[in-house]
Amino acid sequence: MPRYTFRGGVHPPEFKDLACSRPVETLPAPARVVIPMVQHMGAPCEATVRKGDAVAMGQVIGDTEAFVSAPIHASVSGVVEAVGQCTLADGRKVPAVIVESDGEDRLSEDIAPAGDLAELTSDDIRHLVRKAGIVGMGGAAFPAHVKYSPPPDGNVDTIILNGCECEPFLTCDHRVMIEEAEEIVFGLEVIMKACDAERGVIGVEDNKPDAAEALRQAIGDRPYEVVSLQTKYPEGAEKQLISAITDREVPSGGLPLHIGVVVNNVSTAVAISRAFKTGVPLIERVVTVSGDVVAQPKNLRVRLGTSIEVLLEACGGFTKAPARLISGGPMMGLAIYDLDMPVTKGTSGVIALSEGIAPVLNEEPCIRCGRCVEACPAFLMPLYLATYPDESAMEFRPLDCIECGACSYICPANRHLLQRIRLAKAEAAARQRGES
Ligand code: SF4
Ligand code: SF4
Repeated sequence: MPRYTFRGGVHPPEFKDLACSRPVETLPAPARVVIPMVQHMGAPCEATVRKGDAVAMGQVIGDTEAFVSAPIHASVSGVVEAVGQCTLADGRKVPAVIVESDGEDRLSEDIAPAGDLAELTSDDIRHLVRKAGIVGMGGAAFPAHVKYSPPPDGNVDTIILNGCECEPFLTCDHRVMIEEAEEIVFGLEVIMKACDAERGVIGVEDNKPDAAEALRQAIGDRPYEVVSLQTKYPEGAEKQLISAITDREVPSGGLPLHIGVVVNNVSTAVAISRAFKTGVPLIERVVTVSGDVVAQPKNLRVRLGTSIEVLLEACGGFTKAPARLISGGPMMGLAIYDLDMPVTKGTSGVIALSEGIAPVLNEEPCIRCGRCVEACPAFLMPLYLATYPDESAMEFRPLDCIECGACSYICPANRHLLQRIRLAKAEAAARQRGES
């Protein structure tokens, strides 16, 4: 059997055993949720409620006319305490609706199942997915309905569900694949119908054979495939996953849609399945809380807008002060500076690490060893990208960087490559928009 994989990549220690055998625990709704109006790529939402309004669970509280966006819903029923601000993991201060829960979880009256899938058109499904506020739940948070809208001259033939979860420590998708395999397969069926696609594949790294088996059982004799991929970081990056499964390359500056492929995370498929069967929009998700200084690492199903502090309390807090606290995985995640930060649609993990696992290393001069070039899955030259944070970086294609951090991980000189490349990317993006 071929070992599906991509060129480049690295093998960081996995640390999955801390939480992968812990079944998902559902946390009760908190007394208060802080729901940011920016939880996705694209246009931010504007609050559609005001201080003092009563809201039902699942009611729209933020929306926009923009196509590349997704509405935001109340994750509890209660009263709007304020329309204020909150800080996201990337440091941005964004508008947020703060809801004080009434503890009743009263569901919005307009929530209803979608009906028979066979009766729905592609447009109906795209509309349903947008209405439910569904975005990519692997971290990128790209609005799902946009992915199902190919250009007029294109078509989608393949849907890939991403069950790789290649970041160390994260195990939420692993548990979801074991515990909700049927929902994932139904979600795949809905997405295939939305895109009129012929091939449906679920990609799972070969370090999760139990998840692959659960999915195969759920598929039964339906014409979908589970593909076992070589465990390597970043196997779950969209372009690398497509290359490994279909042998097609997304062109520089292009999208998977341009080569007839749509990729969604397995948890996104579950959210679609739920929205389809019950009408309940995206108001909760599973988050891994793990790391060597977390007392009881767990996978928690939580309402969006729950604070990180509540998640950590549910895991017994820290055994000692963490040296690093991260939202997402340790390779691509962002530092958490404020425990009040809320869980959003893209929050896959909260990882707390000791100095022993995440030491602060002194940066040394580059020794031109080329290991970052070998590791880069995007065929870039990270050492040069990180050296020229101005227009001369353009020839090294900074916008093709997927920010996986493999270069920083492998660098023996501890160069802060990813940090500098992010600056070069921001500069290049501004130049493309004609801002510099
Ligand atoms: S891995 Fe580090 S030391 Fe080696 S070439 Fe790249 S930047 Fe230089
Ligand atoms: S240059 Fe970008 S894509 Fe390449 S290894 Fe570094 S972070 Fe990953």
